[in-house]
Amino acid sequence: MFKHLCTSCHRTQLIFMSQFTGVAGTPDGVVATFTCWCGAEQTSHTDLFGLAPAPVSPVDHARVAAV
Ligand SMILES: [Zn+2]
Repeated sequence: MFKHLCTSCHRTQLIFMSQFTGVAGTPDGVVATFTCWCGAEQTSHTDLFGLAPAPVSPVDHARVAAV
């Protein structure tokens, strides 16, 4: 999963793989199409193989903030 700032509801949401509706490879990288929690279709550059730009989890977030 990764964080995404929705262009429709303007909220930063956690997007899960189950919300993906499509993935396409482009010269710039992987572009994922998914449905936001608000129902809007969104696209985002992402790396589905562990190098997401903003990986988050509640535990790691607290740890990073303490460093
Ligand atoms: Zn949204």
